[in-house]
Amino acid sequence: MNKNYIPTWYCDKAIHIDVLKIANQGFKLVFCDIDNTLVSPFVKHPNEEVKKFVQLFKENHLKLVIISNNKEERVQTFAQDLEVEYIYEAKKPNPKKLLQYIHEHHYQEHEVLAIGDQIMTDVLCANRAHISVILVDKLEKKEQFITFFPRRLDIFYRKKLKKKNLLRNF
Ligand SMILES: [Mg+2]
Repeated sequence: MNKNYIPTWYCDKAIHIDVLKIANQGFKLVFCDIDNTLVSPFVKHPNEEVKKFVQLFKENHLKLVIISNNKEERVQTFAQDLEVEYIYEAKKPNPKKLLQYIHEHHYQEHEVLAIGDQIMTDVLCANRAHISVILVDKLEKKEQFITFFPRRLDIFYRKKLKKKNLLRNF
């Protein structure tokens, strides 16, 4: 199995991630996906749970940046509600935009964490950028057409990761 498909950690839901633990591990910057990670792709605005989750990052002096392959309008609306920075049309698993942000803002790779629901985009992108990544379960059962094929592969690799005991809980 390609080691770039193995997440550093796993958590069932993004909002269940222990934010204090992230801070205590020495991370300073966290890239978080939106669709199926924070909310369903069919939900335009963050709910109260997500707002509280993002507030925890601010309280722990962690910089949270929304990173999504989705269009500017979707990403901007969501990020502005949360008052956080964002990167749209990120083209994950290509790590270029993510690395550009890390270097422009003078972070070290070991200070950066990613959170996302897809092995083929979020996990692969983070591993290519040599940063840590927490894989979460996807929120929405209904499939969007553009994620249909990556999702089939995702299910296949998740089964493999579980079987080989490679999903370490964060
Ligand atoms: Mg996603």
